Order: sequence, then C-alpha cells, then structure tokens
Amino acid sequence: MTDSTARHGFETRAIHAGQEPDPHTGSVIVPIYQTSTFAQDGVGGLRAGGYEYSRTANPTRSALEECLASLEGGRHALAFASGMAASDITLRTLVRPGDHVIIPDDAYGGTFRLVDKVLSQWGVEHTPVHLSDVDAVRAAVRPQTKAIWVETPTNPLLGIADIAALAGIAHDAEARLVVDNTFATPYLQSPLGLGADVVLHSTTKYLGGHSDVVGGALITSDDELHEKFAFLRNAAGSVPGPFDSWLTLRGLKTLAVRMDRHSDNAERVVEALVSHPKVTRVYYPGLVEHGGHEVAAKQMRRFGGMVSFTVAGGEQAALDVCARTKLFTLAESLGGIESLIEHPGKMTHASTAGSALQVPDDLVRLSVGIESADDLVEDLLVALA
Ligand code: PLP
Repeated sequence: MTDSTARHGFETRAIHAGQEPDPHTGSVIVPIYQTSTFAQDGVGGLRAGGYEYSRTANPTRSALEECLASLEGGRHALAFASGMAASDITLRTLVRPGDHVIIPDDAYGGTFRLVDKVLSQWGVEHTPVHLSDVDAVRAAVRPQTKAIWVETPTNPLLGIADIAALAGIAHDAEARLVVDNTFATPYLQSPLGLGADVVLHSTTKYLGGHSDVVGGALITSDDELHEKFAFLRNAAGSVPGPFDSWLTLRGLKTLAVRMDRHSDNAERVVEALVSHPKVTRVYYPGLVEHGGHEVAAKQMRRFGGMVSFTVAGGEQAALDVCARTKLFTLAESLGGIESLIEHPGKMTHASTAGSALQVPDDLVRLSVGIESADDLVEDLLVALA
C-alpha cells in the first residue's frame, strides 16, 4: 500500500489515510460497500481496485486496512472478524506441529485457550513466561521456538514487557515477535518501530472504541508474512463485513483524543485508589512504584485507560465492588467510551483457572471510560465504602 498521508501526524492519518473522498460521487466518508461480489468486464476483467469477491477484498475493508497500516507504521494491514481470528491466523501461519511458542504468564484468557486447548492438539507446545523478566524469556527459548507472543501492558495485571529487548531475543533465535497492542493502541505505542514483526489488535476495544463492533487486525512490514496471512485469511474466511469495517474505521478517527482522555481519567481513578484503605494494590504502569514503569515510560506515550486493583477481604469483597458500581457497568471487554468493571477470575480469565496463568481472586479490572472523571471517582468510592 502507498500512503499519501505518510508525512502527516497521527491525528491527520487517522482521519485521512485510506480515506480519500469517493472518486465517483465525492462522498467525503468512505461508503459502506455492502456487496458480496463485483461485476467483471468479461471473464477475469476486474474493474478499478481489482475487486472480485468480498471474502478476498472489499473497498470499505481496504480503507480500514490502509488506515490501520498507516497508524501502526507498517506496510500492510489485514482486518479480521475478531481479535481471536487474527490470533488464530497468526499462529497457524507461524507454527507447525513440533514447534514452540512463548506466551505471557498473564496472557489474555482467549489467547491462552487458543494455544493451550487448540494448538496443543496439533502438537504445538508453549511456555508461559513472565515477560518483564528478559532473562527468563531468553532461558525459555528452544530450538523449536517460532514465536514470542507479547502483550504489553498485559491483561489483566498491566505487566510491561520491553519490546525492543524481546525483539532482539526473538530474532537471535530466528523466531518472530508478535505484539498484541490492544491495550496500548498505536497512539500510545509503536511496536513495529521497536523491532516487532507483527502487531495484533482486538479492534473490538480502543480502535473501534464504542463497544459496538467485534473485530481484529494484523499489521506487518514483512511482505512475505503479509502474503501468508492474507492467503490463510482468504482460505479460512475470517473477515469482517463491510459495516463492521466501516464502524471500526469511524472509531479510528477519534482514537487520539479518546486515548488522551482515557489516560487522563485513569490517572484520576488511580490517584483515588492508591490512597484508599480497602485497596491493597493498584496495577497501573503510570505509577512510579510499578515494576515496569521505567520501560513503559520509554516505549509508551502515556499509560492508557486500563487499571486493575485488589481489595481487602478477598474474592467476595472484589465481587461486591463489581456489583455496586453504577457508572462502571459490569461487563466483559474494554476500550469503549463507557467505563466497565469486571472480575477477571470469574469472567474474562475464567479459562485460566488452575493453570499457571490463574489471576488473583481478589482482583478487579477497570476499563476507564471518557465520562467526567469526578463522576467515575465518586462511583468507585461509593462502591468501595
Ligand atoms: N487480545 C486482548 C488483549 C484482548 O483483551 C482480547 C479480548 O478481550 C483479544 C485479544 C481477543 O479479541 P476479540 O474478543 O476481538 O476476539
């Protein structure tokens, strides 16, 4: 893809990359090309853009992909029906039976399930590692290691991994570094610039940004890898529809302003939680005492909208807090304009129960939205009282 907006700033690219006014009608906004197929001028005579069938390519999806590539600073992007579809295509492209992958020891539960319950059936092995411990990652590498899978910040414990250091380890081992950039978004962190081979997103979260669409994305500057991803996506069919692509593209336009506001509000919430007598620990990479703060400050523009904390009184106390908030809605997912609260042990990360990735049972996770910060802090203080 050639990006005519490449020299512009992030906010400009979010609004213009891949989004020229429609040449036929002048439509300022990319239309929703709600079509499964495209007329041909004679057999094999594809018209402008080379569109043939919407599983393979669709103009609304192409606009989204061009914008995603531009924002992540990559040459190519592919959009998917979900973040897990993007993870599935990545892993099935990178590993074969007998291969090995390193995953975070607090990976997103769905990623862990895919590796532990599905890929394991095909003879792929994995090792969960605390990724902030660079020596532990180096020690876990085997001759069969084909990928190091990174989340930073991690879900739900907000652990931080040094992307540049892990890229060095992966490349020394001739393995690929995949970074799930869902929590940080390209506005706060650019993994490809730090040496990652592939950036993955659940666009369901901050990129879509309004909790109204499920989607995923892969971005890479490696031409060969991109071709393999595109081949498998077309073969397997895990594509988003035109309307979902359009909703995600609309979300991207406001990503920068939303991420700044999410970060502002999260900082206010963290300030209230750290001094609260019923809160035993706050997980937020913006805190100086957070073990990954220095690395986060080096590789992130700001620290984002995700905050986790543990409460005195164990699991029941954590469940009570989740039940009592009024503005923080009790729900899975994250990254929307509205604030959400959840209990990872019983909800998003239930699949890790009994494994090395099990999360603390007194843990509460917040996706801090862009409402008034005063209202959010008050809601939490009432729930904790
Ligand atoms: N990666 C992370 C960090 C996530 O939080 C999620 C979902 O919560 C996924 C991947 C999977 O994305 P999706 O739910 O869009 O399939």
